[in-house]
Amino acid sequence: MSFDYDLFVIGGGSGGVRAARIAASEGGARVALAEESRMGGTCVIRGCVPKKLMVFASAYPDAVTDARAYGWDATVGGFDWPHFRASLDRELDRLEAAYRSGLTGAGVAIFDARATLADAHTVRLASGETVTAKHILIATGGRPFVPDFPGCELARTSDDVFRMESLPARMLVVGGGYIASEFACILHGLGVDVCQFYRGAQILRGFDDEARGHVASAMQDRGITIKCGTDVIRLEKTEGGIRVISTDGSDREFDAVLYATGRRPNTAGLGLEALGIELGRNGQIPVDDWSQTAVPSIYAVGDVTDRINLTPMAIREGHAFADTVFRGEARKADHELVASAVFTQPELGSVGLTEEAAREQEPIEVYAAAFRPMQSMFAGRPDRVLMKLIVSARTRKVLGCHIVAPNAGEMIQLAAIAVKMGATKEDFDRTVAVHPTMAEELVTLRKPVRTA
Ligand code: NDP
Repeated sequence: MSFDYDLFVIGGGSGGVRAARIAASEGGARVALAEESRMGGTCVIRGCVPKKLMVFASAYPDAVTDARAYGWDATVGGFDWPHFRASLDRELDRLEAAYRSGLTGAGVAIFDARATLADAHTVRLASGETVTAKHILIATGGRPFVPDFPGCELARTSDDVFRMESLPARMLVVGGGYIASEFACILHGLGVDVCQFYRGAQILRGFDDEARGHVASAMQDRGITIKCGTDVIRLEKTEGGIRVISTDGSDREFDAVLYATGRRPNTAGLGLEALGIELGRNGQIPVDDWSQTAVPSIYAVGDVTDRINLTPMAIREGHAFADTVFRGEARKADHELVASAVFTQPELGSVGLTEEAAREQEPIEVYAAAFRPMQSMFAGRPDRVLMKLIVSARTRKVLGCHIVAPNAGEMIQLAAIAVKMGATKEDFDRTVAVHPTMAEELVTLRKPVRTA
């Protein structure tokens, strides 16, 4: 049977674009890709990239304050949000164009339209046109999830933050995960009065307990109000803003409310169930280690599969799929020991097991140092950093590394190589320190602070 294409990709985000490019340019496949929104997907258009640029923008007031302590005659002026937003828009346009030309340069045909599945080899475009392909890859990502409660229509999501006309003076952030904690810090840095509600006992559930506590207290020290064990009961529109009635009995007004209470896979209306692909509890597409669904010609990668919802993981999954199916190189994406960073201020970088998880698994030694780093101590700021290693008492392997510090994201990337290679505590110890740095603490931790 002949098909219009060898591969049809639905979704132009990180995973889909990588798979399409490799299949076309290195696999010699005839490839088409459909995207209903902007090319680049969540990461480029409404996620990692604009978020990181906002992180940079929000760090300048502290930098200026420190500069004064170092002798500079510097003052923090006002923040010009429309100026920043216009620059951000230009940068996103540039990146979107680069993604587009990367695809067309590789010979990928682009359809700027929503696509759904008609059968195991046929895609229906919003125009009504149908296209056939030997293989179909679903890489439709996810979208913000807001729970259903009275007044939920007044809540904004991370998608809206980048498009705000002006910055609110008072903002409530709901949630305790990556997005809520990052935006609480960003908005605070930009001069917004931020309060964060989290329903559980401590923000950043799933990360190392000591590291979470460290980040939360640093955020509070900077002036962010974090209310744990607190949730919204209802939101009401008022003349001046939004009235928030919450479970702690408080009744406060904010100018805006940001909900960052998780994301859900974009699978609604794709036509998967009719083809016999049963969706998971959150609407995700179940796949095997090869990213193949229950229908052999249909694969899925990235957030839509709800495995590890990080851009670099989607890229690895998309690349492994293209290598396997179009380059004759069978490769599975490796989901073990994936490092990540939360871009709070200070950042949290993490790889491997938390102390709590490691303790459940085997006897461990915990090495940790919390100290005031040179640069901010000189400026008179109270910030403390945390460097922590979890070590197997039996094999001596470093099972986990957790860093809370400025630029922890950069540090954990390198520590992750050692942890992934199976480095032992003694391998860390025989590595000579780079002095004076914060990260040198990772190779000079002498005695365990506890064993378990
Ligand atoms: P997360 O899953 O990280 O956090 C969701 C938060 O919302 C949790 O604190 C959760 O509480 C809370 N929550 C969930 N449902 C409700 C509810 N009904 N009412 C009140 N609170 C609720 O999701 P995010 O939205 O922060 O991020 C989505 C994903 O995006 C992340 O998992 C991550 O994979 C990715 N991401 C990665 C980034 C990075 O690498 N730096 C940055 C941003 C996103 P509880 O803990 O009790 O479940």
